[in-house]
Amino acid sequence: MALIVHKYGGTSMGSTERIRNVALRVAKWARAGHKVVVVPSAMSGETNRLLGLAKDVSPAVQTPAVTRELDMIACTGEQVSVGLLALALQAEGMEAVSYSGWQVPIRTDSSYTKARIQSIDDARVRADLAAGRVVVITGFQGVDEDMNITTLGRGGSDTSAVAVAAAMKADECLIYTDVDGVYTTDPRVVPEAKRLKTVSFEEMLEMASLGSKVLQIRSVEFAGKYKVPVRVLSSFTPPDIPLEEESRSGTLITFEEDEKMEQAVVSGIAFNRDEAKITVMGVPDRPGIAFQILGPVAEANIDVDVIIQNVSHDGRTDFSFTVNRGDYARTVDLLMNSVIPATGAQQVIGDPKICKVSIVGIGMRSHVGVASRMFRTLSEEGINIQMISTSEIKTSVVIDEKYMELAVRALHKAFGLDAA
Ligand code: ADP
Ligand code: ASP
Ligand code: MG
Repeated sequence: MALIVHKYGGTSMGSTERIRNVALRVAKWARAGHKVVVVPSAMSGETNRLLGLAKDVSPAVQTPAVTRELDMIACTGEQVSVGLLALALQAEGMEAVSYSGWQVPIRTDSSYTKARIQSIDDARVRADLAAGRVVVITGFQGVDEDMNITTLGRGGSDTSAVAVAAAMKADECLIYTDVDGVYTTDPRVVPEAKRLKTVSFEEMLEMASLGSKVLQIRSVEFAGKYKVPVRVLSSFTPPDIPLEEESRSGTLITFEEDEKMEQAVVSGIAFNRDEAKITVMGVPDRPGIAFQILGPVAEANIDVDVIIQNVSHDGRTDFSFTVNRGDYARTVDLLMNSVIPATGAQQVIGDPKICKVSIVGIGMRSHVGVASRMFRTLSEEGINIQMISTSEIKTSVVIDEKYMELAVRALHKAFGLDAA
């Protein structure tokens, strides 16, 4: 008998019929003698709908007073889901009880809309499990020390599930979703993408941080920190498939590198269209200038990603970096209004229509020429690289958004992933 956490995403919870299917699957695991905690997301589209309502009544400026209310609104999607799933389980003859994040409680910091989980008190959940109940806990939401409701950022139910699994020392966290595992790249963009039977924790962390939305990055961080066995698998198989078969399906995140030794140099390709590029031109090239530009940006709580500073000519240089697309206008305003006057830079130009494409693989550590093969592939497709950033196990390029799919497909082929 094991303690298992199941997580079901929005599409898996997308209708009452699907919720009944989730209940059948969960009941199968519970009847096999396992203790099961289920963490569902809001029904698909619901979080967008709720945030859309908020946008209708409120201006875009996200002050803490505004984001507090956004969380109050957005968290309700998951509350509906847990109630419905608990009812469906009861209708299936199971004892089941649902909880909101604050009832557990799942404690977070107070950064509304992107809160971080700090601790989870599992006493209440354990008591229910001991009494033979299936426990259904809202994904995505928590509560801060002043009892304000918080949410964990888009896609945050993954993190709720892995964090609950970590806190309860669960034997496994099963992330049920609308694809049957982690693929070499998004199978909706490259139909030739192949499912990976295993993916190393480090690769999964890079893929998630570089834009593969199959797992929220913080869920992968939790899995690594607490060594939670995480498996990504399909919620669309018939709910009555044998438990043995289901428990071996999908993609397992591994913590040992050895298993990957024989595998490809590049394991996956990630992409992200959520970034925008900004260039501050004619910056006086003197010590401290990077700080003078990026200091105010950081103070405004804007995350900066790829950064490039060019060689200077006649004492001036150009300084480029990327930010989340949602922060683009705010960053340009900030640079225009405060950084340009303070530094004497000449101009700010920007391009919100860029994307970042990355190749990821722990095999890159021990192979040379991987990045150059990436650059050659892109040049053969006539794609101009605007920025490059590398680390030990990834190379990312910033290119024009309109070439994104072409680049991902060409790289997928060039690194032998079509045939993997
Ligand atoms: P859920 O609602 O279950 O949380 P998400 O939409 O958040 O599901 O994540 C699953 C989606 O992630 C898939 O439908 C797929 O389009 C996308 N995806 C992106 N990259 C990958 C990848 N490398 N492997 C599998 N799916 C990926
Ligand atoms: N419902 C939330 C969202 O749409 C959380 C999640 O689905 O993981 O982002
Ligand atoms: Mg998701």
